[in-house]
Amino acid sequence: MLKGQSWVKDVATALTSPFVSHYIIGQRNRLVPRSVPLSAYARLGVETYFSAIDLERVRIVISDPLAIADPPFTSAVRHLGLDFPSVGLAAAITFDYVIACREPMTSSLLFHELIHVVQYRLLGVSSFANLYVRGFLRSGSYHDIPLECCAFELEQRFIPGKAAFSAEAEVAAWIEGQRF
Ligand SMILES: [Zn+2]
Repeated sequence: MLKGQSWVKDVATALTSPFVSHYIIGQRNRLVPRSVPLSAYARLGVETYFSAIDLERVRIVISDPLAIADPPFTSAVRHLGLDFPSVGLAAAITFDYVIACREPMTSSLLFHELIHVVQYRLLGVSSFANLYVRGFLRSGSYHDIPLECCAFELEQRFIPGKAAFSAEAEVAAWIEGQRF
């Protein structure tokens, strides 16, 4: 856990998140030319949970290795003893509406990444970056970042092919409740 007062973490968030936002947009733009829309088959398992707007704008890149550089400050973060997984080793990672993965995703993994697509759309990239960095610095752990907790929590409730809830309404409720 990063030692320090919460205002120190908030200053660190304010200073670093513009670079993270720039990184996200840069990766998205770099990957878009190699990306494809969601296949009809992949869409089948998740489409009852998501708005058509997200299902139609999401783009997928499958590449192994992922060949995506770690975000800015990753080595500094590790130097401080914080644990942040290597992006290149992640099963999948989402930059705005582009999901990069190393192999075709299971419907649960696709669902999780689509939650991030919805979060990006409702928050905007710069706000998403700010909340992601803040959540990481405050909790000291990737798994405790509220944007991830939301995705993991909804993923737990996901049953392929069923329609138990609207993902967009759930993410909107997290925003409304200032849970991020
Ligand atoms: Zn995630």
